[in-house]
Amino acid sequence: MAVAVVSVLLGSSTGASAQDFIYRSRDTLVAGTQPFFFLGANAYPLMVSAARGDTQSVRDLFGMANALGITVIRTWAFYDSSDSLDPAVLQFRPGNYNEPALRGLDYVLLQARLHGIRLLLPLVNSWDDFGGMNQYVRWRREAAAADNANAPGPAERSEVPPYVRGPGGRQYRVSLGGPYEHDIFYTDSLIQVWFTNFAAMLVRRTNTLTGIRYVDDPTIAGWELANEPRSSDPTGTMVYKWVRAVAQFLRGIDPHHLLATGEEGFDVCPDPYTATGYNNQGWLFDGTADVRLPSAPSARALLASVPEASRRGTRLAAIPGTVPDAAHVPAGCAFHPRCPLAVERCRQEVPALLDYAAGPASPPGTATAGGDSAHLAACHLVGRS
Ligand code: SF4
Repeated sequence: MAVAVVSVLLGSSTGASAQDFIYRSRDTLVAGTQPFFFLGANAYPLMVSAARGDTQSVRDLFGMANALGITVIRTWAFYDSSDSLDPAVLQFRPGNYNEPALRGLDYVLLQARLHGIRLLLPLVNSWDDFGGMNQYVRWRREAAAADNANAPGPAERSEVPPYVRGPGGRQYRVSLGGPYEHDIFYTDSLIQVWFTNFAAMLVRRTNTLTGIRYVDDPTIAGWELANEPRSSDPTGTMVYKWVRAVAQFLRGIDPHHLLATGEEGFDVCPDPYTATGYNNQGWLFDGTADVRLPSAPSARALLASVPEASRRGTRLAAIPGTVPDAAHVPAGCAFHPRCPLAVERCRQEVPALLDYAAGPASPPGTATAGGDSAHLAACHLVGRS
């Protein structure tokens, strides 16, 4: 039976349909009609490199990503600073955007498209690197100095530590003096206007190299509202309210791209952002409930090769061989030359992607009808005793 697919054309310049974007179906990401599985990596300074004229390193990185089988890269779509001498700064002041830096981002999107890689684009940093939320707070302080009556109210907390420090040397100043705290990024209405104006500018931009509006470009996997947003509120309510407001705004001007909160950790609580859900900690707890071990040998081998502090002193498991050339994928299961469990059938027959959530294998989507999460695997041995 033929299935009619109604394509919603999004713009004359791309001809992209809604199905060209990555979208969510229940608990699965989908591209076209197939579940979207990906290997991803951070490469945050791509726009900075391009804007400073180092386009070669951008091309090199995408080439390397291709060789490694990486299909999604997370890279900054922000740089907030008053340093007018740095061509990579994206926003010098609220509403004052730097075209050379934006062209750097255009270039990164072009190269991503040419290399078949999707980009996840964070819009602001919670940490002080590349300006971050505190740069908005600084601008707010300057605006208030120019208009004293328009200053934000005093902070409710009397004692605050000077810095919040995270792994890898990241940090942000909790207070820039008086009421000008990192927290007001989430609560101050003028900062909210500045930030949503910035996000709207990006969404509505037309790429000078591809002619494609960002809103219409499936090369963008999604917008990440912020990199690792944190606040002093242990209940999470402050960040939650901000995420909800910004997500509603973005969904209103960009109906297709994924929106990610950028938070750290797994939040497995069905009632997110309650004090219980946060376990009264300063940040999302690292719950791993409901995270199931994969069944397929390829996925198990990948997990076994992740370094862990508890295995210190032992040899790291490695998957033999290299990722196959995309132009010469092995016959049968593409993983078979590297799989320790491969049998003759693996060399000849491509395993079907099936859902094992409800026990016996079934086509994707059927086992989840009762509400269970999908547990997809493509392997001849999964489900066999
Ligand atoms: S189908 Fe065969 S080669 Fe592929 S992962 Fe399963 S056991 Fe290994």
